[in-house]
Amino acid sequence: MANVVVVGAQWGDEGKGKIVDWLSERADVIARFQGGHNAGHTLVIDGEVYKLSLLPSGIVRGGKLSVIGNGVVLDPWHLKDEIAKLQAQGVEISPDNLMIAENTPLILPVHGELDRARENQNSVAKIGTTGRGIGPAYEDKVGRRAIRVADLADRETLEKRVDRLLQHHDTLRRGMALPEVDRAALIAQLEEIAPTVLAYAAPVWKVLSEKRKAGKRILFEGAQGALLDIDFGTYPFVTSSNVIAGQAATGTGVGPGAIDFVLGIVKAYTTRVGEGPFPAELDDADGQRLGERGHEFGTVTGRKRRCGWFDAVLVRQTCATSGVSGIAFTKLDVLDGFEELKICVGYDLDGTRIDHLPTAADHQARCKPIYETMPGWSESTEGARSWADLPAEAIKYVRRVEELIECPVALLSTSPEREDTILVTDPFAD
Ligand code: GDP
Repeated sequence: MANVVVVGAQWGDEGKGKIVDWLSERADVIARFQGGHNAGHTLVIDGEVYKLSLLPSGIVRGGKLSVIGNGVVLDPWHLKDEIAKLQAQGVEISPDNLMIAENTPLILPVHGELDRARENQNSVAKIGTTGRGIGPAYEDKVGRRAIRVADLADRETLEKRVDRLLQHHDTLRRGMALPEVDRAALIAQLEEIAPTVLAYAAPVWKVLSEKRKAGKRILFEGAQGALLDIDFGTYPFVTSSNVIAGQAATGTGVGPGAIDFVLGIVKAYTTRVGEGPFPAELDDADGQRLGERGHEFGTVTGRKRRCGWFDAVLVRQTCATSGVSGIAFTKLDVLDGFEELKICVGYDLDGTRIDHLPTAADHQARCKPIYETMPGWSESTEGARSWADLPAEAIKYVRRVEELIECPVALLSTSPEREDTILVTDPFAD
């Protein structure tokens, strides 16, 4: 049986929700492997709207196992709220269909406080974090002072972990003129929430190994996008975890050989939220039009996303770093009605043509896009379900994208509706 990893191949908001939902219906196990409660998927199933930001998409479907892997950072209070909200909508959640890796690090109130305090220090350029403590929780994981799910089971261990953590945090907080952490209150909070988290705790690596032996299909559900990867993204304007497909293995405890197909989700144009370099960005009427037609506004903040033409250089790069087997090309319909379309095929860096995004942030910022122009189409592609429904120019555009990114299209999405998808290659096929 095939196991599939889904990753965003741009800066996030590529339309992963629809594709993950489509695939999760056909998977037995759905696993998250990085990030925190910032994923922000909205699923609409039989007219009911479900909002998920931490739990894997499979949770709303009966008969599936949802797994939170060790690569995630977990806010236990958020977990409790998200479970309660879904249960109130009639979703069944129990240790039978939700498991959390015992080695998952926790996000604590101190992490959110630190996140927000840093973003408010106006002397440093903002990274644009969500303020949910995700970055500081990853710092503590690497600093070997995190409190992990398994630590909640024993009071003595928990106290030792808290002491180690607070030694670091209180030092930092003193420097930032924040009050020291109330140790007793933190321990009491953790003891109170412990049973909720421990109920779902499991050796996830072992469960996944058994599922694989039993021939079950696993869907590894990525959040965000590969250009936000801590190593391969537009550092420092990135997230604090690895986002690329390799993280599916380390973030759940399966070997790299467990992954049969990497599906990269790619939007037919480019968007980015917040700060950071964006070579193909448009600040003209075309950019405005992409934003409006594509509804490119943040779901929580309502903030306008930055928009630009399709950047084949970036996507070729993320397809390489994630080993993408095939892409799901989304929002093609947003390009309907443009007289001509541009594709970024290279960069001009100080007079030299380059074919990849350079690593240094100042070089990235100086990259000027080199465009290729293609004719647009006036017909509607919205809702197309077969190649025959697409105008010739739209097919040419898709084919040119495949050529430039050196990766085939496996799925083509032409509207927010699940059924409005053209299937070229089934990622789950053996
Ligand atoms: P994610 O951050 O990658 O999970 O992106 P979302 O799943 O939130 O998708 C962003 C928006 O794009 C959602 O409102 C989707 O309904 C919408 N969407 C997804 N695919 C398509 C598509 O093919 N065409 C159009 N017009 N909208 C789409």
